[in-house]
Amino acid sequence: MAKYNYLIVGAGLFGSTFAYCAKQQGKKCLVIDKRPHLGGNLYCEKMAGINVHKYGPHIFHTSNKKVWDFVNAIVEFNRFTESPVAIYKGKAYNLPFNMNTFSQMWGVITPEEAKKKIEEQRAEAIATMKAAGITEPRNLEEQALLLVGRDIYERLIKGYTEKQWGRKCTELPPFIIRRLPVRFVYDNNYFNDSYQGVPIGGYNKLIDGLLEGTDTQVNIDFFANRKELEALAENIVFTGRIDEFYDFRFGKLDYRTVRFETETLNTPNYQGLAQINYTEADIPYTRIIEHKHFESFAAEVDKNPQTVISREYSVEWKEGLEPYYPVNDEKNSELYQKYETLAKQEAHVIFGGRLAEYKYYDMAPIVEKVLGIFNF
Ligand SMILES: Cc1cc2nc3c(=O)[nH]c(=O)nc-3n(C[C@H](O)[C@H](O)[C@H](O)COP(=O)(O)OP(=O)(O)OC[C@H]3O[C@@H](n4cnc5c(N)ncnc54)[C@H](O)[C@@H]3O)c2cc1C
Repeated sequence: MAKYNYLIVGAGLFGSTFAYCAKQQGKKCLVIDKRPHLGGNLYCEKMAGINVHKYGPHIFHTSNKKVWDFVNAIVEFNRFTESPVAIYKGKAYNLPFNMNTFSQMWGVITPEEAKKKIEEQRAEAIATMKAAGITEPRNLEEQALLLVGRDIYERLIKGYTEKQWGRKCTELPPFIIRRLPVRFVYDNNYFNDSYQGVPIGGYNKLIDGLLEGTDTQVNIDFFANRKELEALAENIVFTGRIDEFYDFRFGKLDYRTVRFETETLNTPNYQGLAQINYTEADIPYTRIIEHKHFESFAAEVDKNPQTVISREYSVEWKEGLEPYYPVNDEKNSELYQKYETLAKQEAHVIFGGRLAEYKYYDMAPIVEKVLGIFNF
């Protein structure tokens, strides 16, 4: 008789939410993770009394009330609203592109003036391409110029995108930016969702709440002891890399990754908000995150005389680095399909989450997916 109903490989949001729901149905789970902590990419490390989002800034956002109520029943969320700023050549612009951005860029005041300015710039791009005999945008640069015109492209898109992809915009395919949403309202809220925030006390509280009463072990790599671990449970929930589960038999899937340089500073307020994007090509990092702003607002900010910032750099992924973002190009999609075909034949293994499904997932859809599995 196996000791557990489920062995859950990976203590990220998928594994932890699964463990919570299974426990509600009277099932026994063991959750293991190869990292030295629980929480997967949501994990927060305490530095200078601040919850530092170790694997990148995380803002929970959803329009699904069921999902929002579910996570808030585990831990209360605060009112954090994602409203990043871009800095280009010493000038700050609000994001996403909205009336504040257009006013900062051109001094326009009304939506009508802003629309006119963008239309003028788009018309210029269309005319230039037409004169050169180009009928369809051939690369990301041409696509962006057609969508929003030269000023927004050069100041806010070009350098940032080139740093992100490590290639010139003229060498990137146009489909990467099929749409570039522009808003003709004064609204810096990055997300369109009804609900957003960050857990009061940090994401570890959410994970601890989900895993309360469940057996957990960290520093355990499933593949280092696969046979013994498999024997412990009737079923497996696997949230690691699907290609690794099958010993890379068809080849390795590719990822994109980022590197963070984190430091504590003896100043209470370094940049005045959680996220600043650096859109110039000459500045090597893409953005700076100042973690305290996720949880302390207005006058509270100065109460802690220190702050923690992370500079984020885009780097090419190789084995040993964190596999953050799947590369959904043709080659990798075909490769994933081969693994998925094998996975569908497994009677006792559930593959879930960003690595096992080789899919970029925000947090809310992960929770929604697990609630769906349990018909919650
Ligand atoms: C930089 C960045 C920023 C993001 N920001 C946001 C945001 O603002 N809002 C949002 O909604 N979403 C955001 N996300 C997405 C969010 O991180 C994911 O939705 C979430 O982490 C997915 O959870 P998961 O359980 O699938 O994966 P993970 O969190 O990666 O968990 C998988 C776990 O499995 C473990 N594991 C893997 N292999 C093994 C093995 N062999 N043995 C044992 N353990 C193993 C790993 O160590 C890991 O802990 C962001 C993602 C990134 C990369």
